[in-house]
Amino acid sequence: MQRITILGATGSIGVSTLDVLARHPDQYQVYALSAHSKVEELAEQCARFRPARAVVGSADAAARLTVLLRERDLRTQVEHGEAALCSIAASADTDTVMAAIVGAAGLAPTLAAARAGKKILLANKEALVMSGQLFMDAVHEHGATLLPIDSEHNAIFQSLPQSYARQPGAAGVAKILLTASGGPFLNRAVETLEHVTPDEACKHPNWVMGRKISVDSATMMNKGLEVIEAHWLFGAPAALIEVVIHPQSVIHSMVSYVDGSVIAELGNPDMRTPIANALAFPERIESGVAQLDLTSIGTLQFYKPDFARFPCLALAFESLEAGGTAPALLNAANEVAVQAFLERRIGFRDIDRVIARVMHENPHEAASSIGAVMACDARARAAAGSIVAGLAR
Ligand code: NDP
Ligand code: MG
Repeated sequence: MQRITILGATGSIGVSTLDVLARHPDQYQVYALSAHSKVEELAEQCARFRPARAVVGSADAAARLTVLLRERDLRTQVEHGEAALCSIAASADTDTVMAAIVGAAGLAPTLAAARAGKKILLANKEALVMSGQLFMDAVHEHGATLLPIDSEHNAIFQSLPQSYARQPGAAGVAKILLTASGGPFLNRAVETLEHVTPDEACKHPNWVMGRKISVDSATMMNKGLEVIEAHWLFGAPAALIEVVIHPQSVIHSMVSYVDGSVIAELGNPDMRTPIANALAFPERIESGVAQLDLTSIGTLQFYKPDFARFPCLALAFESLEAGGTAPALLNAANEVAVQAFLERRIGFRDIDRVIARVMHENPHEAASSIGAVMACDARARAAAGSIVAGLAR
């Protein structure tokens, strides 16, 4: 029996994870679940999966959850706050941690799982973007296992040799080809992008996801974050990572080798496939995803990305080249700008303007400790907040 903690159980990835787990009750047992504020959803999940512990974001949410659980006669222990998240991630009573909190809020508990040597299924790419080297050092130092959930990185993971040791040269890797759908605005007239609404930006052509990552896909910041994520996961320099637009999202990414071979992972765009892959690795389990029907798809297309249409992608490459806390600056500014856009305080194109200003007006430094990264994150949030306030006026 594998015992599992899901950080962010009520989100899009969390719900898909529970869907896969429910198909294999003999193999997996839920130890703990977390949500931020969706207590009704979490109570339903507790009723169904009977975790020992449940964590929410505030004392108020914890009180409401306690009432809901009592009504259902459930004995799940209710806690709240970051220390409790770290505790369910690092507990001796759990083997595997699904890191599916969105944004920087996921860093501390995911790091706690790494330091406790857990098997980490990493969806929360922002944690790795912010603290890359420090996070990977913690994984190696404490013997944790890191398996990528992000569909592209899971595809790359499946397309690399099993003995791969984060040395692309030694494995004969010539390029990592990171595919991108291009999001909902791939072909929309650039001059109309100023005025797109949050709902238009969240309408992804192929994937159903949380709102933050959906906006990231529309700006292609998601792909930028994924370039940085690939850099840390696979030890690949930026020059080795190429973004390829592939609107059908059938090829989830590829590895191209020095002998001319290209190995790809294909499938229907459904996150339950990478989730099942990482859960069961190195075995395979059923995920509930239908088999790919290539003849009904017919055509697969590929294009070069347009960096002028998607300035966020260029900013992400720039932050990776700059190194240190530059990706943490980029990530924090992006989180603030996306939130402001979702709340209709700034326009869609303001997102990249806010990020560029935060990056260019704030120095980055060595990412010497998690404290330094968090301080940089806080500075970038404050800077982005005042730029947003200026734009919103
Ligand atoms: P959602 O917004 O759907 O879910 C986020 C989860 O995190 C929810 O459980 C939410 O709780 C919780 N949460 C939100 N804010 C906080 C906070 N401040 N502290 C603690 N918990 C919090 O996001 P997704 O599932 O779409 O994405 C999760 C992560 O996975 C992201 O990092 C994303 O980039 C990554 N990812 C997602 C993919 C997808 O298909 N969705 C694909 C690849 C990667 P509540 O529900 O109570 O608000
Ligand atoms: Mg992805």
